[in-house]
Amino acid sequence: MTTTVMPPALPSTSTTPDASPRVRVAVRALDAYYGATRSVRDVTLDFMDGQVTAIIGPSGCGKSTLLRCLNRMHETVPGARAEGEVELDGTDIYGRGVNPIEVRRRIGMVFQRPTPFPTMSIRDNVAAGFRGMPDAPSRREVDVRVESSLRRAGLWDEVKDRLRDAATGLSGGQQQRLCIARALATNPRVLLLDEPTASLDPLSTQKVEELVYELRGTVTVIIVTHNMQQAARVSDRTAFMLMGDLVEVSPTSQLFTAPRDERTEAYITGRFG
Ligand code: ADP
Repeated sequence: MTTTVMPPALPSTSTTPDASPRVRVAVRALDAYYGATRSVRDVTLDFMDGQVTAIIGPSGCGKSTLLRCLNRMHETVPGARAEGEVELDGTDIYGRGVNPIEVRRRIGMVFQRPTPFPTMSIRDNVAAGFRGMPDAPSRREVDVRVESSLRRAGLWDEVKDRLRDAATGLSGGQQQRLCIARALATNPRVLLLDEPTASLDPLSTQKVEELVYELRGTVTVIIVTHNMQQAARVSDRTAFMLMGDLVEVSPTSQLFTAPRDERTEAYITGRFG
């Protein structure tokens, strides 16, 4: 059997993208099913290197399902399956012999509710991001990577004096940034954020939005949000979905001012929700 090897992690110091970004994730004719029900329909879409792409649309239109197909989380739901292609840097993540755990290290994910490991310290939560990797880092290297991940997640200054404390002692917003640090610990090429601020207060939401904005250029971010203002604030491109279909993907400023599809216009002007 041929085994497909996932592209390696990014070096820890990434650079700003050049003027013409390249495709990081290519989705081709993707269908996603729950049992016999097709919830994502024939989606073809490119996600560009170093950019933030928002996926918007009314509740139940398939945003989260599409996102979960991008790192093979969808198939963990009993009875769920995906058809079509998803390529990361030209490698099919659904290819024969590809290890889904390896895919999820390259394409990290953060969920609606913060999910820190409750019995672990702040440090160990971040270190858990690279536990079990083939080239296990030394203790010193773990500390270095924990610090750099927490710095990238904008949390280091708030937690550096209490790294051994339980992660559950952090506020909800801090816990969410801790989960982002954990996802960044493996230097993923892509970060998937599924409604990451839906359970947060306005100040914590603002911090996560600022973080998403700052991460552009160093990692490809794909964020599902039901909040159009959030999409407008943080993203370079926005994709609009409706009833499982991808209606339009455009530069964010264009999608919100001069959408190409009348269904997009109806949605952004509040004619349906
Ligand atoms: P959104 O993220 O846009 O709110 P979802 O991707 O969560 O939409 O859902 C798309 C469709 O798939 C909806 O009709 C929803 O009911 C259905 N769905 C989502 N999760 C499941 C599941 N675990 N089992 C069966 N159907 C599901």
